[in-house]
Amino acid sequence: MVKIELKNISKTYDKDVTAVKDFNLEIEDGDFIVLVGPSGCGKSTMLRMIAGLEEITDGEFVMDDRLMNDVPPKSRDIAMVFQNYALYPHMTVYDNMAFALKMRKFKKEEIKKRVTEAAKILGLEDYLKRKPRALSGGQRQRVALGRAIVRDAKLFLMDEPLSNLDAKLRFQMRAEISKLHNRLKTTTVYVTHDQTEAMTMATRIVIMKDGVIQQVGAPKDVYDYP
Ligand code: ADP
Ligand code: ADP
Repeated sequence: MVKIELKNISKTYDKDVTAVKDFNLEIEDGDFIVLVGPSGCGKSTMLRMIAGLEEITDGEFVMDDRLMNDVPPKSRDIAMVFQNYALYPHMTVYDNMAFALKMRKFKKEEIKKRVTEAAKILGLEDYLKRKPRALSGGQRQRVALGRAIVRDAKLFLMDEPLSNLDAKLRFQMRAEISKLHNRLKTTTVYVTHDQTEAMTMATRIVIMKDGVIQQVGAPKDVYDYP
């Protein structure tokens, strides 16, 4: 179980660019929050502050009653999937998925158990020995998801994970990520500029504009269905 509170969070770059202003949101266990809005509205900045990759200028990020503002990224129980996959090209699929666990000094048997299980969930069992370049775009995206899943983190962050895929694959992976969420129930914050992704995947949608939250609600409450 996890409870996340984002209280009056603001981010200012270089003293005069306000990327996020007074962002307030409580995230419940099992939520799939989608941050949506046009390019430059502050989605990525918000996600990076949660991950600890960007400093919070003002406000508080609280996770299970612990103030997280100054906790380094490695000490956060948070896993992130990036837009460009960020796979290590010289490592096998297995080692890509195992890497973060090795860094955290997990036992070999535990690493093997987790990687094997994630590979099964994602249909990657037959590809564990391959290098990323020998995979399709969809398979690479699955490895990136696998790398996050094996962490078994309390919070899952995804920054436009499907934007490099073609339309057909995007459609397919959207369904897969939703299925994955239904199965693992991992609390997730997902960033996209794509309304369709937001509508089909979110438990709650947060619409942003110019660094400010415009609207928060269930998909049926924030968009008109035809
Ligand atoms: P989005 O993810 O919605 O496209 P971003 O969070 O990337 O938006 O950007 C929000 C605003 O902050 C934009 O005006 C952008 O130019 C600015 N910004 C983002 N990163 C930096 C940075 N490292 N330095 C200065 N300004 C930045
Ligand atoms: P080490 O990397 O410390 O030698 P192992 O002896 O467990 O660890 O594994 C040797 C290599 O074999 C690993 O680095 C990994 O690339 C690969 N490997 C281990 N288990 C599997 C598996 N179930 N499927 C595919 N490749 C595996």
